[in-house]
Amino acid sequence: MLKLYNTLSRKKEVFKPLKDRIVGLYTCGPTVYWYAHIGNLRTYLFEDILKRVLIYNNYRVKHIMNITDVGHLTSDQDTGEDKVEKAAKKEGKTAWQIARFYERAFKKDLKLLNIQKPDNFIRATETINDQIKLIKILEKKGFTYQTSDGIYFNTSKLKSYGRLWPKKIQLKAGARIRMIKEKKNPTDFALWKFSPKNVKRQMEWNSPWGKGFPGWHTECVVMSIKKLGIPFDIHCGGVDHILIHHTNEIAQAEAAYGKLMAKYWLHSEFITVEGRKMAKSLGNIFTLNDLIEKSFNPLAFRYLCLQTHYRSKLNFSWQGLQASQNALNNLYQKIKEIKKGKGKLTSRSISKRSQTYQKKFLNSINDDLNTPRALGTLWQLIEDQKIADQEKYQLILNFDRIFALNLKKIKTIRIPEKIKELAKRREKFRKEGKFKQADEIREKIKSLGYFLEDTEKGTKIKKL
Ligand code: AMP
Ligand code: ZN
Repeated sequence: MLKLYNTLSRKKEVFKPLKDRIVGLYTCGPTVYWYAHIGNLRTYLFEDILKRVLIYNNYRVKHIMNITDVGHLTSDQDTGEDKVEKAAKKEGKTAWQIARFYERAFKKDLKLLNIQKPDNFIRATETINDQIKLIKILEKKGFTYQTSDGIYFNTSKLKSYGRLWPKKIQLKAGARIRMIKEKKNPTDFALWKFSPKNVKRQMEWNSPWGKGFPGWHTECVVMSIKKLGIPFDIHCGGVDHILIHHTNEIAQAEAAYGKLMAKYWLHSEFITVEGRKMAKSLGNIFTLNDLIEKSFNPLAFRYLCLQTHYRSKLNFSWQGLQASQNALNNLYQKIKEIKKGKGKLTSRSISKRSQTYQKKFLNSINDDLNTPRALGTLWQLIEDQKIADQEKYQLILNFDRIFALNLKKIKTIRIPEKIKELAKRREKFRKEGKFKQADEIREKIKSLGYFLEDTEKGTKIKKL
């Protein structure tokens, strides 16, 4: 029995798919104006775990993700610049070049983190006509109005507006949102924005209302329903999407089609740095590349995320990441030994013991994706002396269907060229009997986070 926390009901619910065994999953994708930061990546990691858990439970998953390459403004209030156009100006490239470049970078990050690709990536710029069609339906049904800068959704026309909001916010609807001039209600949002007068936008399209571009909240409604139908099973994103983006998606779908868009809404918590949300605007971000440049295995970051439940904040620190890297290295070492181990299983009682681990593992992941507990079970299994190595190994690989830490093809860490070069120089000094210089290099290597181990087969470089 799989239980998932549904933001709609604010409860853990037993998961029951709308159609037998096939699950429609929509996850909000990146805005491709810069590299994804590791906070963003945590959200995609959580969604990957969710997908893997569904598959582990024998569901077939149809997964759709959007790529926001237009329409996401620097402010949630429908003001400010388009993030992609702004980046284009800054980097001296076209908006299209920016969008495609960071989309490629994003896909590379997913691969490095063993995040499974969705069945479809859909770009916002590829669904402009469908978005216009949806806005026309809303217009026909009387949910829209025009201002000097665009077409807006009138939230007061939809009684159920704010379904995802916690009760205390529902009572004083919209109180947290500043009123922008010409909006009829503070919570109203842009469906179509007009290109600013006297400024030629790079990304703009004709529409029945004038030249412009779609508002950010429309693309996800169009893409998810087009590919998964309405209603579909699960819609995900980070917690910052609850109050505005997902609320406004639900509103459009319900106004246009009279149905609740998705049955389960799942949201992951933030990565924070010194207690503050990791965000580009706050200047406290790290990218996956920053981690790799410091010689971390990207999967150490995956391990770090697995150690915290997706609904708890994860405060990022380099020490914390180092501890995860050490734990992962340790895990790899143990598994290498287990792989070499013999002891084929003969006794039935041991097999039952193994089954207990399997059950514990399943209970954890099915309890709203409790990966920290599942990791605990993995470690208990590894240390259990009463289970034959071969059987243990099979179970470890089975667990790795969720963890995806490459436990089958364990890769040892990549040693940077600079460290290898230093090790060579030290070897040369040693051979020449220049032990003082050799020791100095050894210390230098240590200060860079590596150490040398002299073995009978030569010197090995290891990470501290
Ligand atoms: P964006 O590219 O800004 O649309 O964000 C992509 C995803 O990352 C969304 O699902 C956000 O909710 C999520 N997100 C943004 N900041 C963080 C953070 N600091 N920690 C975790 N997830 C985040
Ligand atoms: Zn979305």
